[in-house]
Amino acid sequence: MLTSFGRTADVAGPEWNDRGVRLLLIEDDDAIADSLRGPLEAAGMDVDRASNGADGIESANRGVGPDVVLLDLGLPDMDGYDVCRAIRSVSQVPIIVVTARSDEFDRVLGLELGADDYMVKPLGARELVARIRAVMRRSAPSPRDDAASSDQIVVGGLVIDTRTHRVHLHGSELSFTPKEFELLVYLSEDAGAVRTRTDIIEHVWDANWFGPTKTVDAHVAGIRKKLGDARWIESVRGVGFRFEDPAEAHG
Ligand code: CA
Repeated sequence: MLTSFGRTADVAGPEWNDRGVRLLLIEDDDAIADSLRGPLEAAGMDVDRASNGADGIESANRGVGPDVVLLDLGLPDMDGYDVCRAIRSVSQVPIIVVTARSDEFDRVLGLELGADDYMVKPLGARELVARIRAVMRRSAPSPRDDAASSDQIVVGGLVIDTRTHRVHLHGSELSFTPKEFELLVYLSEDAGAVRTRTDIIEHVWDANWFGPTKTVDAHVAGIRKKLGDARWIESVRGVGFRFEDPAEAHG
């Protein structure tokens, strides 16, 4: 099998959302690596850990490569900066560099290592997951650029396939009722915009539907519950609802 270095065009295609994100963690400290593994795996990531720079470079370049790299700069065998450069020289995989000291930030930024983001220890699991998703979102091709994915609505880690009626959140499949699915599609296809109750009822139910508007709320509540975070659908008082990636949501 030919070795492909990191995110080639086909690896970065729409399929990557359908499986766990492969995260390469290059970290020599066992306690830190162990403490990060749980939250990262809970967020749907497959964690492959390398405990030194040489192994990290090898893992980054092996097979189809990771989807994202979390790189500690303080490694026993090599300078983390060189590890970052070595990976970047052969791969466009998103790299998040981790430094132990905040005063290293300026140096990291000045070196133009090709890293995608920087974090200072200690790492908060929630912020880390959000940063990982953010760099992956930025590095992923826009679905509108790819005719093959025109049946897909992608909002953050959420992928809705309107052709197959399948929904994946961070690689895990979710199940919705037909009405919930229609409502989810209607809300998400213009993420960030407000959908009014009137529009929702007209598009998802029927223009002549005179049932209780509580039905909309009940379906919104059902979708929120399945997405696991109420912030996906923001209630706009007196108007309707706004669909939004919780990682981008305010407050
Ligand atoms: Ca270290």
